[in-house]
Amino acid sequence: GGKGRLIVVSNRVALPEQTATGGLASAMRVALQERGGLWFGWSGKVARQSGGEVHRVSDDAVDYATIDLSRADHDDFYDGFANRTLWPLLHYRPDLVDYDRRHLAGYLRVNNLFAEHLMPLIAPDDTVWINDYHLIPLAAMLRDRGLHNRIGFFLHTPLPAAGLLIALPHHRELLETLSSYDLVGVQTARDRRALEEYFLHEVGAVMRRDGRLRTPGGRRFQAEAFPIGIDTRHVADSASHAHEHEEIDQLKQSLEGRALIIGVDRLDYSKGLPERFQAYARLLERSPQLHRHVTFLQIAPPSRGGVPEYQQIRRELERSAGHINGLYAAPDWAPIRYVNNSFPHSLLSGYYRTARVGLVTPLRDGMNLVAKEYVASQDPENPGVLVLSRFAGAAQELVDALLVNPADTEEVAEALGVALTMPLHERRTRWRRMMDVLEKQDVTAWRNAFLHRLDG
Ligand code: UDP
Repeated sequence: GGKGRLIVVSNRVALPEQTATGGLASAMRVALQERGGLWFGWSGKVARQSGGEVHRVSDDAVDYATIDLSRADHDDFYDGFANRTLWPLLHYRPDLVDYDRRHLAGYLRVNNLFAEHLMPLIAPDDTVWINDYHLIPLAAMLRDRGLHNRIGFFLHTPLPAAGLLIALPHHRELLETLSSYDLVGVQTARDRRALEEYFLHEVGAVMRRDGRLRTPGGRRFQAEAFPIGIDTRHVADSASHAHEHEEIDQLKQSLEGRALIIGVDRLDYSKGLPERFQAYARLLERSPQLHRHVTFLQIAPPSRGGVPEYQQIRRELERSAGHINGLYAAPDWAPIRYVNNSFPHSLLSGYYRTARVGLVTPLRDGMNLVAKEYVASQDPENPGVLVLSRFAGAAQELVDALLVNPADTEEVAEALGVALTMPLHERRTRWRRMMDVLEKQDVTAWRNAFLHRLDG
């Protein structure tokens, strides 16, 4: 690694003692705890005005510095441009993109505020690692203030092809700022190709012989894929001790020997939940022999409730779960258990291990850590089966899952049928191959690969 400290920047910061829900927070926590450093971001609090004082706390290895946002800044930046414009665009949903100039202005305002408060915290030898779509222009704003440090960026979401990116008004002003980083990391080779294509064809950059892109303005940067991993060893250990939790025992008791299918997702339209419910309904329709012998548990903690599309999908899923239960339930059996709560990792790993099938069917997902956690949580002697969308970044690595197109409910229903009847030897072979990948490419390897490249 580099000589100085590591400074991680992300919108959300998982403070000590907080549960980190969300792939980014879980990963960055592990990334920082081992090397130590500073984590900078939003405090999670809406205050009378933005900025003000920087809140500082420390635990063993990590210092945390956070700032508050005003209601207006939060709404324009977070609910507005980040989650109503960029999120749907990056997840291949131009139909859901809601663009508003005031939201863009708020996004730039908050990025400037981050730059202003972060700048004095950075020492000359520090390496700065900025995360995700909330903070794309931050490096350019730090450079404007005279920062010469190594700055890396990692995009946790997918990056769609240039033909889709250009639908965003003022796309070039925003996306060209990526060239202010020394290194831009993305999840998959497909995302890297999309980034290169955008810079070559829309910005007029050229590819240098050393593999870096050079913009007409003379900025040089490297784009590279670094598929994010999980803390595989920790998840596996935690899963093997999960039976000590009363909740895991209660779940098992309640199943009365039925096979469990599990889904765990933030309640988000990118996760393919309506299609997933449809596929499960299709399974019940075509396989009456499964009635009363299978249970689908969908854990879906609500997120981004301030955004209308999220309120809508929540209503849609309530209707769909109620409809399917109404259609197929018996006095002593409900086909779907739909739970709008979040759970700590210690319990999730036990739930995953109890499930014969992990059902992970996002329409698009940068990586999808739940898919990896499901595999890492299995009992090596009697592992469950992962049914995985081809459009999750994780499908590039977990090629021994049952890969499906989530829009094809017939195909997903078939895969569920195959998963539920897969013989033990095949389950073991597939699981072992996937586990080898997860052990080799864990979150520590991911962090090391990114920082090694960034520190040069
Ligand atoms: N998660 C959790 N509790 C929950 C639901 C999810 O801790 O009730 C965690 C989950 O274990 C995973 C992360 O949140 O580590 C979700 O990451 P993923 O990449 O699957 O999706 P994202 O939410 O980042 O889109």
